[in-house]
Amino acid sequence: MKVCIKTIGCRTNKADSIELRQALFPLPVSFTDTLEEANAVILFTCAVTSKAEKDVRLYISQARRYAAGAPIAVTGCLTEVIPPEKWKEMGVAIVFNNSQKHMIKSWVEEILKRFEKTELKGTKKETGTEIKEDIIQITGMNRPPLKVQEGCSMKCSYCIVPKTRGKERSIPIEEVLKKIEIFVNNGAKEIIIVGVQLGAWGKDLNPPQTISHLLERIFKKNFSTRVRLGSIEPWGINEKLIEMFSVKTKDQRLCPHIHIPLQSGSDSILKKMNRPYRKSDYYKIVSKILEADPDIAIGTDIITGFPGETDKEFEETLNFIESIPFAYLHIFTFSPRRETPAFSMPERVASDIMKERLKRLKEIDETKRNLFKQKFRGKTVNAIVEKVSDEKEASGTVEYFFRVSFPLVASQEVKELDKKEIVKVKIVDTTPFTAKGVMI
Ligand code: SF4
Repeated sequence: MKVCIKTIGCRTNKADSIELRQALFPLPVSFTDTLEEANAVILFTCAVTSKAEKDVRLYISQARRYAAGAPIAVTGCLTEVIPPEKWKEMGVAIVFNNSQKHMIKSWVEEILKRFEKTELKGTKKETGTEIKEDIIQITGMNRPPLKVQEGCSMKCSYCIVPKTRGKERSIPIEEVLKKIEIFVNNGAKEIIIVGVQLGAWGKDLNPPQTISHLLERIFKKNFSTRVRLGSIEPWGINEKLIEMFSVKTKDQRLCPHIHIPLQSGSDSILKKMNRPYRKSDYYKIVSKILEADPDIAIGTDIITGFPGETDKEFEETLNFIESIPFAYLHIFTFSPRRETPAFSMPERVASDIMKERLKRLKEIDETKRNLFKQKFRGKTVNAIVEKVSDEKEASGTVEYFFRVSFPLVASQEVKELDKKEIVKVKIVDTTPFTAKGVMI
């Protein structure tokens, strides 16, 4: 029996879907990305923007069309917002809200029983042991995200996540270490530590701990994989964490990359967003990080078109972004979500103004990406190979969070790639969105 698991939304959602794949792994099922082949479809939904909601609806209609007859299950944040009867109208067989995800496995087992009964005689059955046991089979990637924290107790005025994912809670350290071990034993070459509010990890544990404790414990274990920290809010970053990124003392397995959502470079907008910092606080944190490692990749999220955002406030944001050597920006236009305070805020920004602001931010993003990558020309970076095309070229993600492609000259190199944890690549050329190199 084939199960199609589709994930829309953030890395935390991706980590949840990977956990489900791991839970289903012992069953005689295999995974497919092709709807036509699927005997059951499970969709991890997102409620953060109206675009994400649109994507969910579109995927359900595609699943009904191309995976005709296969039951569709939905889970994730949008199930906390849309009532079950509406899902039924869309053709969804069953809804698992965020606290019911653990029940999906039993649902799959039920379908499996029905499937086995109706299966044609003589048709080869798949068994768990026939499925290739490696991380790519489970996760579809060799850089899997691992969720260590769930929920958010903040109240950013535009954000629906605290409603959909509940209060902050941490996965205990021993459980995290066990999960990492499973990933490592199954061939993961990089683990991305993610959480809805990553900086809150450990606050609810007894005794309370911080994300830097967690990283220390991970590195003590001598896992061979490298570790990347997922998105972390500015207020979740402490001195100890910054010190861990210092080039002088850093564990080589920690990727020199940190993603710190800014959202706006205007204090008045940050206030309306109910973000608990001002741009000077953000600047101080980033300056300290750059002092610790001048080459580190710093990424950020920006929302433009927040209700009432004036031209002046937008210009303030642009100027602030210009003052920081970001490696990249993730840009969003404000998306009103009915269940949030920002939904009823006056002075919505007109869509043509929003588009124009988005365009200007994209131009800055392109320049920043270009400048950041240029620094690495002639330098050697470490790539985890994720794709080999026609045995002639390979590409992968480097520790500084950009992709590099490099030619493979001898067929021997292709075989060698499989054995290598990480490939050393000298960067020879860069553009805003690509980098080319040679394997050394
Ligand atoms: S910190 Fe703010 S933006 Fe992030 S999940 Fe919590 S409420 Fe949403």
